[in-house]
Amino acid sequence: MRILRAAHLGMCFGVRDAIALALEHADAGPLTILGDLVHNPSVLGTLEAKGIAVAQDVTQVRTSTLMVTAHGTSERTLARTRAMGLTVVEATCPLVHVAHRAVAALARDGYHVVIVGQRDHVEVRGLTGDLDRFDVVLADDDILALEEHPRLGVAAQTTQAVEKVRRLVGLIRLRFPRSDVRFVDTVCKPTKVRQSAAVEMAQQADVVIVVGGRSSNNTRELVKTCSRYCGRVHHVETDGDVRPEWFESANVVGLTAGTSTPDEVIDRVDARIQEINARQLV
Ligand code: SF4
Repeated sequence: MRILRAAHLGMCFGVRDAIALALEHADAGPLTILGDLVHNPSVLGTLEAKGIAVAQDVTQVRTSTLMVTAHGTSERTLARTRAMGLTVVEATCPLVHVAHRAVAALARDGYHVVIVGQRDHVEVRGLTGDLDRFDVVLADDDILALEEHPRLGVAAQTTQAVEKVRRLVGLIRLRFPRSDVRFVDTVCKPTKVRQSAAVEMAQQADVVIVVGGRSSNNTRELVKTCSRYCGRVHHVETDGDVRPEWFESANVVGLTAGTSTPDEVIDRVDARIQEINARQLV
């Protein structure tokens, strides 16, 4: 049995930099992170061990310093936080800032903004938080529920699968042929390269293992993408989730991981698959 790692997998620079910033500030004094810094339980455990608190809302913050995650937040939330006298550390990924600027430009140019993404995801809340009117879509049915506007400006949550985003933009154009539909592709490059590397890997694999947090959007998108090319795809959070029976009569096991998955978690899953293989050979 051979393990085939996707050419691009695992933690992106945005998440890596945000974790480093959190650890640096935690050394300097008490710190609270607004929302989950990443959707990965092992990373969250490391932060907790450092004494870093997590608050889902600014009203729950008990420290004088608050960190905004790589997912970003709206200018309104930032202003509210500063008005409360809190020092704000921004770990917003530069590519999330790009998406924020794209959305602001669409709104400024008179487009009704439509975001392709998960309505309740922290990044989407940040992208839409400064808008008075907007829509969020994720499935074909959501397009049917949209109202007509002379100008529709579409952008995406950075971790969506770009093919799905393009397909939904196509449906919006079909549904509103008289509207001026402008699409700005805000899916980030690390997400795109992980998606295309996952496709290349899944096409050659008998079994695929995707490593990442259960609530990590980009990990779930990798699972969906791989499932289109391989019938045996399993999503695991840690090596403890890997089951020996998954690998029966498999020659090639593909391995990929979401953008919030640390290298050591991937390595442990890899080692567990090798261990299962060695036992099956005995
Ligand atoms: S997934 Fe993309 S946008 Fe999000 S933190 Fe990573 S690089 Fe930045």
